[in-house]
Amino acid sequence: MQRHRNCHSLQMTTIEIKNHPIRFKQGVALYASKDPDYFYIGTSRAKIGFQSTCARALFDYLAADVSAELSEQMLEEILNSSDHTKVQIVEFTSQLQECGLIESQQSAIRISERYVSAIIQKAKVASQHKGDASFDQLKKKIEPELEQSRWIQGVQDSGIEIINQRHFAHIEISGHSRAATQLFALLLASGVTHTQFGLGYRQNAPLITDIDIEAGSIRSTDLGKTFKARTNELSKEISLLPLEKSESAQEIEPDFKEQTLKIHFGELDPVIRALWMSAGQQHLIIGEANGAWLKIGPIVKPGFSPCNRCVELLEYEQEGATVEIARTGSKSAELPVVGAHYVSALVASIVLQLIDTGTSDLMGSIFAVDLLALCNTKHISVTRHPSCGCSW
Ligand SMILES: [Zn+2]
Repeated sequence: MQRHRNCHSLQMTTIEIKNHPIRFKQGVALYASKDPDYFYIGTSRAKIGFQSTCARALFDYLAADVSAELSEQMLEEILNSSDHTKVQIVEFTSQLQECGLIESQQSAIRISERYVSAIIQKAKVASQHKGDASFDQLKKKIEPELEQSRWIQGVQDSGIEIINQRHFAHIEISGHSRAATQLFALLLASGVTHTQFGLGYRQNAPLITDIDIEAGSIRSTDLGKTFKARTNELSKEISLLPLEKSESAQEIEPDFKEQTLKIHFGELDPVIRALWMSAGQQHLIIGEANGAWLKIGPIVKPGFSPCNRCVELLEYEQEGATVEIARTGSKSAELPVVGAHYVSALVASIVLQLIDTGTSDLMGSIFAVDLLALCNTKHISVTRHPSCGCSW
């Protein structure tokens, strides 16, 4: 989306410019155009065009991480050396803010308390995280996540609050697929600390075997270990945010909105599906690959969005051939390595979108993944089927 606005044709506004720390989010750029007095400010996602003889000074003023006094001084210099009025600049700033290019709130990384010392003075120093190597490491690891989260619609800070919220989601993975292991690792490393495998996951195949090695989280040195032991190790190794030792009710904030999602790989027992539907459990089913083709979704919010039975009924009407009678080979064939990585990353991105924004593109739609041509993944809308009713 490109927006073209001229800052000379602006209306009055009541926003006070001294409300700094309003400043550009990290990654905002100033672009020149063919016209030497016309510039754009923005990112590859959104830009605002404006006419100015002091574009660079304006950009530096809004990019500066300085005190309110110094910022006011920079503004005075711009007003003195150009024909811009204060009102114009205020209005321009609010346009940039509407476009999501400005951060106007400050947030900090919130991590659960670690035991430091019983001596109050020592604990106080530690809570400021000065010289705290693991906190510095965490800040570096979070930076690439912010590159995504700060651009979510409505985000007014550096994106850290979004990452803090991922800590409160609960994801449970069931079924069996190498994509499931990969998904587990991706979510943990993205800050979804409470990602776990369902009770009884891999009960029939507790040990790691050759097929688990898929250029990812499980290596040949893990062969013969139990799957549970390795995934426990993994959660300590790669989890972005530290997992607190015990959760207590007091820690939960008053405006706490918990996002819980059960993700199942492969065919789901109809009894469990009925149970999830009647309990109002939000869930997502990833179908089996068949003919190098598979289906992901929809994300089912029982009673609110189309469920998997709605999809089956729609398919039955449209395709005719949906009731399987017999098949050659194994019914639960493993995904190829690239396919497993693609499916897990796609599912992880859907889960993060759900946690970060409270909604998902996959509510009311499914993905059809062609393993022979991954870039041809189709996003298909589905609706609730009248004869399903979703009222199990
Ligand atoms: Zn339904």
